[in-house]
Parts: sequence; structure tokens; C-alpha cells
Amino acid sequence: MPSSWEDFISSDAADEAKAKALEMVKAACGCAGTEFERDDVPNSIACVQRSVYRYTACGAYCEFDFEEGTVILGSIVEGVDWGTDNHELVWPFTRDDWNRALDEVEDEAKSIWHDTHGCPECARLLGIEYVPGQTVICLECGECDGQGEIV
Ligand SMILES: [Zn+2]
Repeated sequence: MPSSWEDFISSDAADEAKAKALEMVKAACGCAGTEFERDDVPNSIACVQRSVYRYTACGAYCEFDFEEGTVILGSIVEGVDWGTDNHELVWPFTRDDWNRALDEVEDEAKSIWHDTHGCPECARLLGIEYVPGQTVICLECGECDGQGEIV
């Protein structure tokens, strides 16, 4: 379990590691388009997390691992009790790396959603054959209210 910024910065980690972690947070702010506040790093981190959650369709999460010098991006898919893989960004990463990882999380979340949802009525409405676990959801479905069935 990655430690919080406060714990990390008061730990006996090398100054170099701390400086590196600070750079990583700053870069993450740049990638997420949020402001980096040097005097309030925990808030800067919270802003990045909120931004990632808000600006991804799947509501991705973003965890910082200061010891490892990594950022973990992923998503819990609502209604299903598993999520996407964790996509690990190792510092130094670029904005392209960041966006690519988020795109992958989005794609994966979308495919989990589609793979696991969709009921026989969805299939009928869409005019496709119902294949459990593969039928996409029909948002107009009255049977499952467009929520699908978890298989
Ligand atoms: Zn349905």
C-alpha cells in the first residue's frame, strides 16, 4: 500500500527520492491540467485525482506511489466487481504516456462494461443474437433499464 505524501516526506527516504517524487507530482499536475502548489502537495495530488476521475468517462482513479516513483491509473467498473488492470507510469513520463495510459484505461473499462452487460431484451432491441457475456447494452432497454445484467 503506497504511503501518503505526508508519511513519505517525513520518512527516511533519501532526499533525492523526495525531490523526484515532488517532480512527479508536478508533472502529473501538468498532465492533468491542474495547478501545482508547492506548499500544498497533498492538495495538488487531490486535484489531479479529481481531474482524472472527472475527465474520464469511466471515472478513473489515480494513485501515487512515491517509494516506487510511479503513478497507477485504473478504473473500477460500476456494477461489476472487478476493474481494469492497473496502468503504471514510471517517472519520468511524458504527457503522451499519461494520455495513452488513460486511453487504455478507458478502452478497457468500456470493454469490461460491454462484455459483462446486456440482457436478452437488449439483444432483441438491437436485433442481435444474445450471447451471454458478449451482448452490448441497449440504453433504451426497459427490461434492465439500460443497465444490463451482470453475468
Ligand atoms: Zn437489457
